[in-house]
Amino acid sequence: MDNHDLRKAGLKVTLPRVKILQQLEASEERHMSAEDIYKALMEAGEDVGLATVYRVLTQFEQAGIVMRHNFEGGSAVFELADEGHHDHMVCLETGQVVEFLDPEIEKRQKLIADEHGFELMDHSLVLYVKPKKK
Ligand SMILES: [Zn+2]
Repeated sequence: MDNHDLRKAGLKVTLPRVKILQQLEASEERHMSAEDIYKALMEAGEDVGLATVYRVLTQFEQAGIVMRHNFEGGSAVFELADEGHHDHMVCLETGQVVEFLDPEIEKRQKLIADEHGFELMDHSLVLYVKPKKK
């Protein structure tokens, strides 16, 4: 992702868009809320307002650059749409988001749709979890 990708997505290259894109790419955490991005930019000394972060993320979502997830019990999180399909696990205590992909689950879902006379087009699977008691 770079400025070229912004233009390709039909978006003009503006400083807030570039900064937010860089933040999403540089972050170790692939799933960030608008507030997370805002805070990270502030810590990096970038002057981008929270309203701008929200607006740019919505534009990125519409342009297919990011995916928005509305997980239960938290604010929406965003991730770059540069990865293939995967499912998510969300910790109800910490809000941590873990990605996983299980070939068995993928296969089973196709079969289940098929058994009901459908062709599976897409799915989203979220596991809500808690840390194991020690
Ligand atoms: Zn993800």
